[in-house]
Amino acid sequence: MTLSTPRSPQPGLALYPQLLAPLDLGFTQLKNRVLMGSMHTGLEDGRDLTKLAAYFRERAEGEVGLMVTGGFAPNIAGWAKPFAGTLSTSGAARRHQVVTQAVHAAGGKIALQILHTGRYAYHPLAVAPTALKSPISPFKPFELSSRGVERQIRAFVNCAVKAREAGYDGVEIMGSEGYFINQFLSAFTNHRTDEWGGDYSNRMRLPVEIVARTREAVGRDFIIIYRLSMIDLIPGGSSWDEVVTLGKAVAQGGASIINTGIGWHEARVPTIATSVPRAAFAWVTKKMKAEFAAVGITTPLVTSNRINMPEVAEQVLADGCADMVSMARPLLADADFVKKAAAGQADQINTCIACNQACLDHIFKNKLTSCLVNPRACHETELVYRPVISDSASASARRRIAVVGAGPAGLTAATVAAGRGHEVHLFDAATEIGGQLNMAKVVPGKEEFHEMLRYLRRRVEVTGVHLHLGTRVQVQDLQGYDDVIVATGVVPRDPKIPGQDNAKVLSYIDVLRHHKPVGQRVAVIGAGGIGFDVAEFLVAGGHSTTTDLPAWQAEWGVTDPAQAPGGLSPAGPMVTPPEREVTLLQRKEGKLGEGLGKTTGWIHRAALKMKRVKMVGGVNYERIADEGLLVTYGEKRENPTWIACDTVVLCAGQLPLRELADALQVQGKKAHLTLHVIGGALEAGELDAKRAIDQAARLAATL
Ligand code: FAD
Ligand code: NAP
Ligand code: SF4
Repeated sequence: MTLSTPRSPQPGLALYPQLLAPLDLGFTQLKNRVLMGSMHTGLEDGRDLTKLAAYFRERAEGEVGLMVTGGFAPNIAGWAKPFAGTLSTSGAARRHQVVTQAVHAAGGKIALQILHTGRYAYHPLAVAPTALKSPISPFKPFELSSRGVERQIRAFVNCAVKAREAGYDGVEIMGSEGYFINQFLSAFTNHRTDEWGGDYSNRMRLPVEIVARTREAVGRDFIIIYRLSMIDLIPGGSSWDEVVTLGKAVAQGGASIINTGIGWHEARVPTIATSVPRAAFAWVTKKMKAEFAAVGITTPLVTSNRINMPEVAEQVLADGCADMVSMARPLLADADFVKKAAAGQADQINTCIACNQACLDHIFKNKLTSCLVNPRACHETELVYRPVISDSASASARRRIAVVGAGPAGLTAATVAAGRGHEVHLFDAATEIGGQLNMAKVVPGKEEFHEMLRYLRRRVEVTGVHLHLGTRVQVQDLQGYDDVIVATGVVPRDPKIPGQDNAKVLSYIDVLRHHKPVGQRVAVIGAGGIGFDVAEFLVAGGHSTTTDLPAWQAEWGVTDPAQAPGGLSPAGPMVTPPEREVTLLQRKEGKLGEGLGKTTGWIHRAALKMKRVKMVGGVNYERIADEGLLVTYGEKRENPTWIACDTVVLCAGQLPLRELADALQVQGKKAHLTLHVIGGALEAGELDAKRAIDQAARLAATL
């Protein structure tokens, strides 16, 4: 629920004429060019789909043109994991009606994604064209017989029929990301010699048959989206000619819309992480659009990946890259994205920062999806921001609340509470809001944190929070409030290394906040999230490839798929020399960065390796002196080694800043105020912005 309702749709139409234009599919019309891309949320698994219905209803109310569900398997073999959501019976179709009815009641349209995972399946019943284990599942699939292939096709068709029975407006046939259909297309995973393998006309037979037979079964007035892998980003990926041949065949064979898939899941090129430039792959869809135009195919094309603001989407459409834009995570972050764009209120959009921390990383840990910047995502029925009742003595009456600390925890608590109707005063000792986010935003590849700050700043204005910057709060300043929320954050941990008073020692705050000069050879102590970020900051020397698409493509070895199959440059990633020589250290044995996000840790490690950062684990910090940092190894403190360096940066973790909270605990009782402590001030161990925001939102929802 968003508490400020956009006033008029007119301003947005002038700003985003292409994005907000309807799309006519002949038998049906979409109200605009926004397709909410498929995302598995965890709400699909199980029999009760009411929470999934609430999630989609909010997005339909937010005016999304067409939504696609997370993947549902057409049969057991196609499950992503045991007991994954499946649609194959009329009973299941009836259970889905709660979703389709909720969406239609809100004026929306929704398609069900049919996902067969093939050799990516995380269960022992997996099937594939060839019995080849994938690098992302421990289960080796069974090779399908010809009859087995026929059974899978029938399962796809049956799933589409059941989707229609359930009231869906269409289906998306998942043909990309390295799943089952993709596995037939590539000679790399298809070694068959029957009519489903061998030359490309045989390998592409599977999707063509699936689309044609689905169209025949569901009739003409039902949307069929085909998700086409336009650039595989794997060695042995499809050639551009093959991709084009397939795209034309499925368009002419019954697909209503062709959506773009980028990269197989096993690809070693980041495709959606925050360090990927915005709209980094729209040019691939544009190439396909030219191929279609050349032969008069008018099937609408959807482009995808790292499109997270209306102006980016509009530009992509204005540049002729596609007819529609797929946004998935941005609609987790803000259900009212389209409505706000239409009202000319893009500055109020809660922007997806592409961190993956609460969405994809949760799914990989078998946890329900949410969103770092919007903890209500997928929790719509349970986390509700109810307006408070004014002039009432009830528990939810208007209160006077002080929030100390304007980091993500304090900002969220303040804006949610004020948005509900409380009188809120927000204090920060600093002269700007954001707390540690102001350090995150200067790290190359983390530019999206600027958007988070813009959104929060705007929420402060819109919700009428009384903001007091440059104000260090003490206990005596907090009289007359009903509630005090302490969100004072953290202080860096002192690692107490002998010699750390040497002039060459800096903290991460000195480097990222105060921009103190750093030498050429640097030792970074501590390899948590901040140690990695500091290392990336130091080697980049002020240049971020996230805002430089050609440089980013060169860095990751991405090229035109017409030049090299799969779009991987034969020369590989282009290594540019680092700005500094950096050694990143930790005391734990083993791989550095183990605690980083499941879906992004490998990117940080790969990026630092490309910049020749030395990553050293299992050290003891013996002493810092003019010659550098002396370390030994292991419990026996063996092999003393000087790491020659000009600067040592301390990134040794954080501790809660609890001075105010502790003092209030004692004195607050006398003042009859209710004390709440959140974010880093409560617990610094494993704290991140996700936890800080979630905790703050949940507290503010209850006041
Ligand atoms: P803080 O952000 O620390 O804010 C506390 C605020 O309280 C400060 O502004 C301070 O000035 C103010 N304050 C303190 N005492 C007083 C007082 N007495 N009176 C008034 N004001 C006071 N997290 C992620 O989830 N993802 C990331 O990618 C990520 N990247 C990061 C990168 C870097 C370089 C850093 C440093 C952190 C990163 N984090 C990331 C961590 C995240 O920023 C923190 O977990 C989060 O900011 C903690 O929020 P908080 O509101 O509890 O505290
Ligand atoms: P952290 O992830 O806990 O890492 C602290 C590092 O310091 C560890 O490498 C630890 O490794 C080392 N350390 C701990 N005690 C030490 C001591 N006494 N002496 C020397 N080294 C010590 O914390 P952080 O890097 O400060 O980050 C703070 C929080 O922000 C984290 O919770 C993190 O999740 C979050 N953050 C997230 C991201 C992100 O991209 N998601 C980015 C930045 C920050 P050893 O003990 O092995 O030496
Ligand atoms: Fe976007 Fe991060 Fe939210 Fe996922 S958790 S939707 S990546 S902001």
